[in-house]
Amino acid sequence: MRDHHEDARLDALHQLKLLDTQPSEGFDRITRMASQIFGLPVAAISLTDRDRQWFKSRVGVGHDSIPRETAPCAQVAESSQLIVIEDFQADPCYANSVLGRGGTRFYAGAPLVTHDGFGLGSLCVLGTEPRKATDAELAALVDLAAMVMAQIELQHAFGRIDPVSGLPTRNQFRDDFIDLERDHPGEQRFAVVVDMARDDQISRITRALGLARVDDFIREASQSLRVTLGPGRVAYQVGNAQFAFISPPGVEQMAYVTLLKSSFEEMHASSSVRFVTNVAIGVRSFIVGTVSADDVLRGAASAAQDARSAEGSIALHSPANDTAHRRQYGLLQDFGAALEAGDQLRLMYQPRIELATGRCRGAEALLRWRHPRLGEVSAAEFIPIIEQTSLARPTTQWVLDATMDQLVTWDRAGIEPVLSVNISAANLSEADLIERIQVALSKRKLAPERLEIELTESAIMDQPDQALAMLRELADAGVCLAIDDFGTGHSSLAYLQRLPARIVKIDQAFMRNLTQATGPDFVLVEAMIGLAHKLGYRVVAEGIETSEAATILTKLGCEEAQGFWFGRPMEAEQFAAWLSDRQSGRRVERGDT
Ligand code: C2E
Ligand code: MG
Ligand code: MG
Repeated sequence: MRDHHEDARLDALHQLKLLDTQPSEGFDRITRMASQIFGLPVAAISLTDRDRQWFKSRVGVGHDSIPRETAPCAQVAESSQLIVIEDFQADPCYANSVLGRGGTRFYAGAPLVTHDGFGLGSLCVLGTEPRKATDAELAALVDLAAMVMAQIELQHAFGRIDPVSGLPTRNQFRDDFIDLERDHPGEQRFAVVVDMARDDQISRITRALGLARVDDFIREASQSLRVTLGPGRVAYQVGNAQFAFISPPGVEQMAYVTLLKSSFEEMHASSSVRFVTNVAIGVRSFIVGTVSADDVLRGAASAAQDARSAEGSIALHSPANDTAHRRQYGLLQDFGAALEAGDQLRLMYQPRIELATGRCRGAEALLRWRHPRLGEVSAAEFIPIIEQTSLARPTTQWVLDATMDQLVTWDRAGIEPVLSVNISAANLSEADLIERIQVALSKRKLAPERLEIELTESAIMDQPDQALAMLRELADAGVCLAIDDFGTGHSSLAYLQRLPARIVKIDQAFMRNLTQATGPDFVLVEAMIGLAHKLGYRVVAEGIETSEAATILTKLGCEEAQGFWFGRPMEAEQFAAWLSDRQSGRRVERGDT
């Protein structure tokens, strides 16, 4: 007959996910105290599983479990009563038990009882001589058993144990780190973060196979990590599919990295989802006591990210990368405020010159950010960070509004340039983008030809289908489109041909060595211009810094150019003055800016 109480008891024990977890200083401390109070060499926190007594913590015992049958701890758990055996040899039940045969003569065990009244096991002390236990000793043992239970319950209440993997969490890492600082100050150690899969890989598994399979994967990964680390070493779960651990003392960096690499290759090869995940490992060396637990983890995790982006499997923490990441994160955090502040963002305008006539048709609006603490931050630095986030939409909206407002102001002043605006790949997924542009134009009574949209070749190739639909709509609305940074984005000609773009802007990288007439850049630019013309595009060359380059491009039939040689990006008033000077003929060869 099934014993329902025993089933419920086992269920309560298994729910706690304590069995077969690694040792933990929090429990070991209590076991040591029990052994000291009794003046006995052996003490243990012993949990009563279906067929075995498993030791969560032990002093003076070599193995981590004994059979449940005939173990006095099992009796303590089943009865939830304190049990003292003063002499095994005098007790027929125990004289022949596993412990009795092994030389144990004395036993005292206090029950570990849950709130619901389930006995999980026992906090016990053992001796090799028969003895009595004093009331004070037994009272202390009962108190310590209560502390063990409080610790178990606290761990769950405060998220010390991850419910899926059963590994201690980041919170526990912080606590254990304090112990490490106390016990081993000054030691050189390595913190290792193992990132089992990329976020998109996890999402893909979830989508295809369901959340339960992801849980299985995490469980499987945590188990093999424990096997890889071996007994006595602790692994923590510090992120969704991220584990961390600290190296043993006295290991040398290169040897350790090599060891990690081969262990994880082995581990990954045996994983059931090895085909769809990549493991990335980050390692951060530190001196115990000189860095906080969070910094150590952050450093190792950011090295794991570096390993990911470098398509390698392992990377060492680099303080330079770390500083760069922190700056990027800071910029991202502050940019939202910049959009609302009113005085941090502004546009500058860089003229575009028609090479055959020297006329200026218009300018490119370039976003500038004056950060309240860091000063001017370059667009090349903050735009790529912003573009990755939901801030892409309000940013582009800000630039569009500011550009159109500027057009209205200049119209009133009698200068009527065309202004081009850069948009991001992310903007292509805004279903209402074109409508917003149309509404903004008509609200200001501006003709659509006054605005040009620039989109980089790589942004277009990121999501070619979406781009095509969007750009057709844009062309239908009468707004001209330019393909920016042309030559850097690996687009296929067949695809480009289908785009309703009118202009290609050849990237400035090709202009650097243009003056070497037989050099590869010259040949490439010549070919690109020829090809673009055949496909019906108007060509703009970017980044023209010298009169020689300007001359060559004119000869090659390039229609327009933009670059420091003609004019740097200028503040609005400066550009207006520059343009009217030029239009009134006062200007000579180049814009002195
Ligand atoms: P881009 O659209 O290709 O803009 C041209 C960049 O080249 C500008 O850098 C400009 O200052 C720089 N430049 C112009 N002539 C020369 C030259 O002769 N020599 C050199 N070395 N550089 C020259 P900036 O303003 O720092 O912008 C960098 C990039 O940031 C832009 O490249 C564009 O992709 C992006 N960006 C700028 N403003 C915006 C914006 O409002 N929205 C979006 N989405 N992206 C923007
Ligand atoms: Mg541009
Ligand atoms: Mg460009």
